[in-house]
Amino acid sequence: MQFDSLTGLPNRASFRASVRCLLDRALTDGREIALLWVDLLNLRREYSIAGDEGADRLVCAVADGLRPWVGAGELICRFGEHCFLLALRRDERTAERLNMIVETASQFGSSGSEGKPEIASGVAFFPEHATTPSELIRFASLAAVSATRSRSRAPILFHSEMDAALQMERDLERDLSAALRDNQLSLVYQPQIDLATGTVIGVEGLTRWNHPTRGPVSPAQFIAVAERSNLIDEIFRHSLHRLLADAARWRSAGLIIPSLAVNASAANVRREDFVAVVMREIEVNPPGYSQLDIEVTESLMMDDEPLFVERLKSLRSIGVKVSLDDFGTRYTSFNALKGLPLSTMKIDRCFVHGVDRSSQAQSLCKTIMTMARYLKLGTVAEGIETVGELQILKQMGCQAGQGFLFQRPVPSERFTEFLLDWPEQKQRSVFADAFTNVDVDPSYDADPLFGLV
Ligand code: C2E
Ligand code: MG
Ligand code: MG
Repeated sequence: MQFDSLTGLPNRASFRASVRCLLDRALTDGREIALLWVDLLNLRREYSIAGDEGADRLVCAVADGLRPWVGAGELICRFGEHCFLLALRRDERTAERLNMIVETASQFGSSGSEGKPEIASGVAFFPEHATTPSELIRFASLAAVSATRSRSRAPILFHSEMDAALQMERDLERDLSAALRDNQLSLVYQPQIDLATGTVIGVEGLTRWNHPTRGPVSPAQFIAVAERSNLIDEIFRHSLHRLLADAARWRSAGLIIPSLAVNASAANVRREDFVAVVMREIEVNPPGYSQLDIEVTESLMMDDEPLFVERLKSLRSIGVKVSLDDFGTRYTSFNALKGLPLSTMKIDRCFVHGVDRSSQAQSLCKTIMTMARYLKLGTVAEGIETVGELQILKQMGCQAGQGFLFQRPVPSERFTEFLLDWPEQKQRSVFADAFTNVDVDPSYDADPLFGLV
């Protein structure tokens, strides 16, 4: 048997050989096996914080946490640099036992200042899910990928859709790469409306992908795929480039939009050259009278706060505004927000939907707006679909809004038509009254449009 020199556990080669025998025996005896894949997620970070030795201590701590759980006729190995495999007997108490194994391995923190192990784990059963060692291992690893993505602390059980989903994701990634090369991606535009006057104060560019055989793929799907590869950088460059080029055309036609918004993912902002990329695009097509506004979500801030703050400050220093998108969907603390150089808070659609009919939604919106006001941030309500929603948001002092009520996201030429038509349309549409007849609640003093323009 060959052993891993650091932990003293069997290594990958010997595990492969032994697990084959174990499965053969289990088949003859009519027994079932649970294969547990344990990934150590924070090993790389530990290397950069505590060096080789700290990382080694972390690996050994996990090995020590796992080893006592392996009984006679069961197996454990260090399968890769940051992953362990356990082949355990399956019985009616397996679920409970697996949970306890993972829980103790996560608690088995190395002493002193090192980090605790962060673990994601997946499990597949023999013979229920697979009968060959390689497939069983692959399935357990797929389940662990799912645990990593969902940030589950407990082991996730393999199910067959995981395989299909990963395959589809791989296909999408391949097609997306071709789509970027062949210029199949486009940008559509949605206006941001000043709720007091009905004026267009901004536009948000949203990426669209019309797949040659699948048809339109939703951004929720392809952005997630792009984020897991470096395609997200190309998407960001592409959308920023298109937005600024289209804004230049609108400007030369006398259509000036004060704020030009584009979405950036956490992966974009994390890149070393993020600000340089923005500057390069601005040099090609300066925003002119308009101001560039980069929309980011809260998740980034939670994962990497110091980096996030540094990048935002660099953006602000070159005159770019930063909006917090989908606000309220995560749990950002007021304290964290206080230190951020943001200009606008975008209230997520889930708070806006039916706000005129729910006192609870109204309280939540009011709280968010009070918070924004205190932080001197502009507010944009996302996803306004009805006149009722518009009226109540306006009464509550929300400064701007976006939504299907005003205009669905449309391609650039249609957006030009919208801009030309809007001054008239806002007078005769169903919401015309909202722009003339609703008084703002006096308890919300009418501050200027803080960060909005
Ligand atoms: P988001 O940035 O919060 O964009 C708003 C989303 O709400 C858009 O969905 C828009 O079409 C939709 N929406 C606008 N008004 C309404 C309404 O009244 N009702 C309803 N039900 N929906 C409305 P879309 O275009 O599907 O984009 C979804 C998300 O995908 C975006 O959310 C953004 O996070 C992301 N995304 C889109 N394009 C890009 C991009 O180029 N880069 C990155 N990183 N993310 C993007
Ligand atoms: Mg957005
Ligand atoms: Mg949003």
